[in-house]
Amino acid sequence: MEKGQKTINIAIDGPAGAGKSTLSKMLASQLGYIYVDTGALYRTVGLYALRKGVNPKDAEKVSQLLKEIRIEIKFISGTQHVFLNDEDVSNLIRTPEVSMAASAVSAIPNVRSFLLDLQKDIAAKNNIIMDGRDIGTVILPNAQIKIFLTASPEIRAKRRFDELIAKGQNVDYQSVLNDIKKRDEADSGREIAPLKPAKDAIIVDTTEYNLEQSLELLIKIVKERLK
Ligand code: C5P
Repeated sequence: MEKGQKTINIAIDGPAGAGKSTLSKMLASQLGYIYVDTGALYRTVGLYALRKGVNPKDAEKVSQLLKEIRIEIKFISGTQHVFLNDEDVSNLIRTPEVSMAASAVSAIPNVRSFLLDLQKDIAAKNNIIMDGRDIGTVILPNAQIKIFLTASPEIRAKRRFDELIAKGQNVDYQSVLNDIKKRDEADSGREIAPLKPAKDAIIVDTTEYNLEQSLELLIKIVKERLK
């Protein structure tokens, strides 16, 4: 991007398993934008807490840990990699245990402010599709397009379950569904940056849509808005 040039920011928020990352990735490659997965940042903080034996819910202890953490996002062949103190943790953060730890640390105000500039900075420098929970409401309130992607908990659990099985992880559907419900409750109920659609977000419910149909719909919305 040239200096001073305004970048295009598309915010995609929604609950776990709504298809945000898959669809955002596809949309980004269609548009030639960079896809930024912000959940990975909270996961990285969660992973660090687990490694240090710190309860991810303990706001004071987790806040202390932030002093030891340096998180960087790098794009390698167009794919986001997250580095925790120079270690590429992109794959290590994709376990159910880290998901729950991410959800816990994400309710801590110090963690959210720690990750704020990193997210704003990437958006200011690149045309991006950024997915998360508070992108349209807190991180990029001026994003040109805001989408709130959702689907029923059952279908989201099924998609997440299939994804984890495909990665060779040993999980059962019921516990994936329970985790999704728990995370929904924690993410929507927390005081700081709760999961909720921005006032100017377009709500897209993909319960009845497959991937292709959902992508088609998103492309239509984006084209319409960027006209
Ligand atoms: O999107 P993902 O499932 O990777 O996010 C992991 C957790 O990180 C979420 O359950 C949520 O608690 C938190 N998160 C957040 N704000 C974001 C992205 C993720 O609070 N922008």
